[in-house]
Amino acid sequence: MTRLHVQLAAMVAMLCLAAAPFLLPPFTITLMNYIGVYSLVAIGLALLTGVGGIVSFGQAAFVGIAAYATAWVSALNGHSPWVGLLLALTLTCSIATLLGLATLRLQGHFLSLSTVAWGLAIGFLFGNVEGLGRFNGIASIPPISFGSYALVSSAQVYFLIWGIVAAVLWIGYNLLDSRLGRAMRALRGGNTLVESLGISAFRIKLLIFVIAAFLAALSGWLYAHMSRFISPGPFDAGMGIEYLMMSMVGGAGSLLGGVVGAAIVTLLKNSVQDYLPLIAKGASGQLEIVAFSALFILFLQWARQGIVPFVGRYLPKLRRDRPQPAPALPRRAQPAPGELLLKVDGAERRFGGLVAVNNVSFDVRSGEILAVIGPNGAGKSTMFNCLTGALRVNKGDIVFAGRSITREAQSRIAKAGIARTFQHVKLRPRMSLLENVMLGTYARTRTGLLASALRLNRREEASAQFEALRQLERVGLGDKPFDIAGNLPLGNQRILEIARALAADPALLVLDEPAAGLRRQEKLRLAELLRSLRNDHLTILIVEHDMEFVMSLVDRIVVLDFGSKLCEGDPAAIRNDERVQEAYLGGVA
Ligand code: ADP
Ligand code: MG
Repeated sequence: MTRLHVQLAAMVAMLCLAAAPFLLPPFTITLMNYIGVYSLVAIGLALLTGVGGIVSFGQAAFVGIAAYATAWVSALNGHSPWVGLLLALTLTCSIATLLGLATLRLQGHFLSLSTVAWGLAIGFLFGNVEGLGRFNGIASIPPISFGSYALVSSAQVYFLIWGIVAAVLWIGYNLLDSRLGRAMRALRGGNTLVESLGISAFRIKLLIFVIAAFLAALSGWLYAHMSRFISPGPFDAGMGIEYLMMSMVGGAGSLLGGVVGAAIVTLLKNSVQDYLPLIAKGASGQLEIVAFSALFILFLQWARQGIVPFVGRYLPKLRRDRPQPAPALPRRAQPAPGELLLKVDGAERRFGGLVAVNNVSFDVRSGEILAVIGPNGAGKSTMFNCLTGALRVNKGDIVFAGRSITREAQSRIAKAGIARTFQHVKLRPRMSLLENVMLGTYARTRTGLLASALRLNRREEASAQFEALRQLERVGLGDKPFDIAGNLPLGNQRILEIARALAADPALLVLDEPAAGLRRQEKLRLAELLRSLRNDHLTILIVEHDMEFVMSLVDRIVVLDFGSKLCEGDPAAIRNDERVQEAYLGGVA
């Protein structure tokens, strides 16, 4: 399958959708309108929850804010629905921004719980604010009109709704295929990973949160002018859960899944409402919820990943062309060889009573490979995390390229030119090798939201792709750039991380136990790679447990033991140092 096939399939789908009002009865078209309107919310949730990993139960509240805003403008104050749209979008996005600023630093379940809280609170307001019709709602909302042409019938508004859904899908997929989209897709790898690439995880979360709210607002606006009447019910917490179901059934993380999920849940609800009264007379209202929940539990048991990804597995793979040569991305000014690049001065880091790093000082000069070695638990990773900003030192100072980074945010340190790998490999296993490495180019590219959404980023993308391919080739993984990273053996995953770090064009490359868990052959290859990087004048700080691995490789060695610096010197001196031998023989090594 190629891109052309995908475009053809999209065109056929659009033609079918466009023909529907001429072929199907009005009742079906009304149903499809609801599906389209719900889709927008579910697509937003696919981004927020599926891609970004932020589970939100509160989207119905955003739909409600927009619906009430436009109803207030148009039905109660006699202005055009277009003015309503403006207010709906600005109000919803402003409230989302404030809520996001207040809650998005929360982790995991706490964040989801906060969405329940504000979802309930906002839903409660609709029925209780004087001037918004309380529980009777707001009636006689005018239809949307273009000049004197009013979209009154379901077939008329159908084209607007599905036109918007199609545009949103196009924009959404463009966005996912951009540097911002890759950053969003990296969120599930954890803040430390994202920040280590020079990306502010918080800002990306806020962006994705506001985008999802924006889509919910579009949905609310359409809903109000389509049904011409609103009341608190459709915006309550129950509906918030239903939206989440839609995006999960369709396939969390899949934008198309949002549409499919909205269709399935809406149709299912409809048929349950049709058939349940036949089985159980009287109590069918409550039974509907029971039947629905049972179906959902079955779904979670058997098809957890959702419909669209499930079907996608059986479709032929999208064939991609190898990236073509493109203009190079900008490079940073590299320090002169021999210049003092990193100065760690009296660093101390405690965990409760444990002093993991105790008054450690050392320098790294441009162009050298320095190893920090020591037995397990010596404090190497902690030292390492302090100088990359993943942890803060309690005492001491760290200066990089002439500027103190002791209190800098991790993403800023990454931007300043320190690129790292992790002791426990952090890749995005479902992304291709190429995309994983492209993540490294984030700070060297600048396309913004609008240009990404409209696909105006192709030149920069081509450059980023080519740069990523170049780095893959540099580390010897260039033959299958579109393979999935999760399928690589551990040794190559570590090397892939190095390629990602190289794609950031670092001034200092810091590697945390790159040889851990590697087989002999893999270690030899890794050493070969590091030597070739040194020949390219790259400065490398390598944290290693395996003394033999570093001996023949590095210029200088700093030995840590129980958090303190034991000694420092060239490999020969370290090898003959009795204290080092004792530390290693006495330790777990
Ligand atoms: P190394 O990388 O040299 O094996 P680490 O830096 O990982 O050592 O750990 C140094 C010491 O600090 C160990 O005793 C470890 O248990 C402790 N430690 C590391 N991280 C934490 C943490 N987040 N919380 C508490 N203790 C920690
Ligand atoms: Mg470690």
